[in-house]
Amino acid sequence: MPTNRSIIKSTEKYDAHNYHPLPVVLTRGKGAWVWDVEGNRYLDMLSGYSALNQGHCHPHIAKAIRAQVGRLTLTSRAFHNDQLGLFLKKICTMTGYEKALPMNSGAEAVETAIKTARKWGYFNKKIPVNKAQIIVCKNNFHGRTTTIVGFSTEKQYQNGFGPFAPGFKIIPYNDIKALKKSINRNTAGFLVEPIQGEGGVIVPDTGYLKDCYKLCHKNRVLMIADEIQTGLGRTGYLLACDFEKIRPDIVIVGKALSGGFYPVSAILCDDHIMKVFKPGDHGSTFGGNPLAAAIGIAALEVIEKENLSKRARELGRWFGEELFKIDSPIIKEIRGRGLLIGVELMKPARPYCEDLMKLGILAKETHEMVVRFAPPLVVEKKDLAWALARIKKVLKA
Ligand SMILES: *Cc1c(COP(=O)(O)O)cnc(C)c1O
Repeated sequence: MPTNRSIIKSTEKYDAHNYHPLPVVLTRGKGAWVWDVEGNRYLDMLSGYSALNQGHCHPHIAKAIRAQVGRLTLTSRAFHNDQLGLFLKKICTMTGYEKALPMNSGAEAVETAIKTARKWGYFNKKIPVNKAQIIVCKNNFHGRTTTIVGFSTEKQYQNGFGPFAPGFKIIPYNDIKALKKSINRNTAGFLVEPIQGEGGVIVPDTGYLKDCYKLCHKNRVLMIADEIQTGLGRTGYLLACDFEKIRPDIVIVGKALSGGFYPVSAILCDDHIMKVFKPGDHGSTFGGNPLAAAIGIAALEVIEKENLSKRARELGRWFGEELFKIDSPIIKEIRGRGLLIGVELMKPARPYCEDLMKLGILAKETHEMVVRFAPPLVVEKKDLAWALARIKKVLKA
């Protein structure tokens, strides 16, 4: 029988050590639960960084993937396929945007949004060639391409990977005055996370996003919301921006857009923006393939049919309140919305995550001092209650 230890050892012989996973080897998942190769069961409180809002191996998505995999998987965009239109219609109808452009990973969709905003700026604001500026926030996380890490403020994400692309201005998050000051004639877009997930679950003040939206509009700057982690139900709303009742010019989605089955991402915007793209301007071999589209449709149907946004809102409120009741000197702050919750500790969070693992809870530290609790949105209240007892035990120890 292979053990967690033996498999980790043989994996580490060949893998690049760009991750530091918890020492557990998972082999099976169902809903909010996963099992390791030794038969131990865990509650998944990371959910693939929110790619698994629908839970592991959701049967409705599994059925769609099985049906599509026997029919047609890839055409390339050189030809049409009969699934893409259905997928785009579904996501546009649900979110209220006129157009969607499909990609695969989240970072690719962020790159797509950057390209869109720049081209829009050159065409519509007559920004001089190669002078377009995109404003981004400190402590951001938008992915790992060289362009994107170029405007990260996390030194480790940049070290050894330069030189980086110009054209980005970094301002403090949750600081409307800084945004106002940094917008100029050449500003094409403002790229922002409604809640900074990787940054440690940083929730801006209520009203911040709305003020950003107003300021962007007054100055003809595209507001670009990166909802890759916060979107699709996670924060108790279909999009986290819905909380402030704003409709950004461009929304970026990914992660749960496939329910964890496959990389599927997209940008959403209206036609007057999307029309900057002409044939040949941008593309992806796999983006919008029929398998991804069929998966995307099913993943969105689950979010809708199972009322996952509402579930996240109600369970999140209760779970958050219960976490608040834990009286422990090592808890510094608890933040979040819906089922995206960060518990900031007074000490490094990694050992606490290891202790949680021993008790059957998989959570991961983010930003060293923060434990993120973001279970699949299909999680049962009794599972969360089970987890709470163990979280309490670990944080009180
Ligand atoms: C995960 C994430 C990304 C990057 O997505 P990948 O699929 O890993 O490329 C971008 N932005 C945010 C906010 C994310 O959480």
